[in-house]
Amino acid sequence: MLDYSSLLLAAALSGTCLSVTMFAIWFTAPRARFVLTVACGILVLVAHVVLFWHYARDPGPWLCQIVLALLTLGFLIICLSAMQYLGMRNYKRVVLPTLLAMAACAGATYLGLDGLGFILAYATVTALLSLIGAMFWIKGGHDRRILLVVSCLSGVCALSFGLCGAVLLVKGQWVLGVAPDNWAERLNSVVAVACMTGLGALTLSLHHLQAQIELKAETMTDPLTGLMNRRGLTALYGERAFGSFMSVAMFDLDHFKKTNDVFGHPVGDQVLCRFAAVINKYARTGVDAFRLGGEEFALVMSRMTEERAHDLASKISVAFGTEVVATPLGPLRSTVSGGIGFGKAGGTLDDVLAEADAALYAAKRAGRNRVIAQNKANRADQVGPALRSA
Ligand code: GH3
Ligand code: MG
Ligand code: MG
Repeated sequence: MLDYSSLLLAAALSGTCLSVTMFAIWFTAPRARFVLTVACGILVLVAHVVLFWHYARDPGPWLCQIVLALLTLGFLIICLSAMQYLGMRNYKRVVLPTLLAMAACAGATYLGLDGLGFILAYATVTALLSLIGAMFWIKGGHDRRILLVVSCLSGVCALSFGLCGAVLLVKGQWVLGVAPDNWAERLNSVVAVACMTGLGALTLSLHHLQAQIELKAETMTDPLTGLMNRRGLTALYGERAFGSFMSVAMFDLDHFKKTNDVFGHPVGDQVLCRFAAVINKYARTGVDAFRLGGEEFALVMSRMTEERAHDLASKISVAFGTEVVATPLGPLRSTVSGGIGFGKAGGTLDDVLAEADAALYAAKRAGRNRVIAQNKANRADQVGPALRSA
């Protein structure tokens, strides 16, 4: 038979160790702020467990208030850490109702209805844990396996606290005077310890997962323009079929070497960033922009007719032509040439890139500052909207 007191102290000890481990991890990776938040939440829960242990031996109204406040506060902080991890910023929507519930709980306990206080605290914790479970279930994108386990553990823990409240409610124990002691409490002390230890350990996995995702995103991002790079293009589209309604526009800034030579490399960088901003303005769902390297860019267009794809690429070229970069030598205008490759049955990214590259070469030969489509590239002398003379 399990000794209730020892179980509580074991929970406090394992919680402390978990919390210290997380503080240490946050120390080495301060960007992972959600780990710090979890560590704080667990520490508050440890304080709750220790005081609850005291309260069970020597009950008093003030201690009861503190015990219940710490329980709710600990789970509120854990809930906020989950929101932090999932990138949800509307903390107020959770904090305000929880503070109201804490106030109601404190009021009930102050009036001597400590049983009602326990019911309110358990109900709030159940709601917070259910919210954590639901958020991970709905919002979790990258590794569903870990997130679903987090979700299930939160759900089980929520159920366990819910049972504790339900037992008091059914028995109508509005006034207790001592710590509640029934089968649900004993079950909860085991379930909560198991779930919280599991959740704590999973926090480390989530941290590892997030670090991996950030690193992957970094390797796929061009540091100068912030666009995805060629590695990103391959990762996103390398395995995809490029059938009808898929196309790629390749862009290459005109006479860019001269821009660098005359205005200097830093101004060249500014021009690159300006083009990236223009192309990025047209990126949306199904339209992704990439910097392939140097002054070459690509736009992958999905679910778009050839006419619309050509129209979009031409708009980008025209928009960039109107951009002016201020330099010490006076205002600088630049132009860009583009070539579009269209997908066809059985087509791959490499096929379409090769077609786009050939079209781009045709655009350069035809005098630059224009966008040419693949099917017209071999008739370069009559093609593509010559948008403005170079
Ligand atoms: P064309 O119109 O035929 O495309 O001529 P171009 O001068 O644009 O082409 P070229 O390939 O000769 O020159 C590309 C230049 O782009 C050479 C290189 O120094 C410059 N470049 C490549 N990457 C960067 C970069 O990150 N920043 C800057 N400022 N320049 C870069
Ligand atoms: Mg080039
Ligand atoms: Mg160029």
